[in-house]
Amino acid sequence: MSGPLQHYLKFFEEMGIDSIRLNLPASQHPQASRLAGKEGRGEGALGVKAGSASENVFSPPVLARAAGRAAHMREIRDDLGDCVRCKLHRHRTQIVFGAGAEHAELMFVGEAPGADEDAQGIPFVGRAGQLLTRIIESIGLKRDQVYIANIIKCRPPQNRNPEPDEIEKCSPFLLRQIALIQPRIICALGKFAAQTLLETTAPISQLRGRVFDKFGARVVPTFHPSYLLRNPAGKREVWEDMKTIRRMLDERP
Ligand code: SF4
Repeated sequence: MSGPLQHYLKFFEEMGIDSIRLNLPASQHPQASRLAGKEGRGEGALGVKAGSASENVFSPPVLARAAGRAAHMREIRDDLGDCVRCKLHRHRTQIVFGAGAEHAELMFVGEAPGADEDAQGIPFVGRAGQLLTRIIESIGLKRDQVYIANIIKCRPPQNRNPEPDEIEKCSPFLLRQIALIQPRIICALGKFAAQTLLETTAPISQLRGRVFDKFGARVVPTFHPSYLLRNPAGKREVWEDMKTIRRMLDERP
């Protein structure tokens, strides 16, 4: 065994996982009858919002809704424009707006872009982003099945913490993205995301391990992948949070 499979198994081992969920084709999935109406892709893709059991993702109503959401997301991006609403515009290479499925049931919200994200214009593509990708895959999802964004959309200099005036100016665009996507679950990555979304000053150590109701969604705070790179022991708690998210995704809405 070698390559990516070995890599993932090592990651699971680090997280103390002793069994792995198989991402079976929908027709072979134990919950195939329930999932078939939700997905219709025939690839066992969990966590993708769709319409009634009579619809599949290629049906005209579903395609029209998806196109509508994508158009609305472009409107939000257009409204943001070449934003100079806060001082962070002076330091950025480019705005990191967000990426993923506009119809996602699960959304991840982090703090701010780092150097790799600033260079590429895509959230979570550096080392922490690669870890987030493995975390997403550990619950049977792919990155393009979720939506990923940050509280603020421009990189703070030297990756310093976002300041209150920056969060105040930028977060309304994230809130519009959340309102458009209407995720069932929002995973808040780290202190700033959790505190901003939940409008609290409580430390992440008090917030993680709990589930909150906000934005018509369940909000699950957990540790930021950057923290996990510095403190690998935290992966065990993150895995518990991911299992909570997986359970909630499996529940009928
Ligand atoms: S962080 Fe947000 S509000 Fe500030 S300049 Fe960038 S896009 Fe605009």
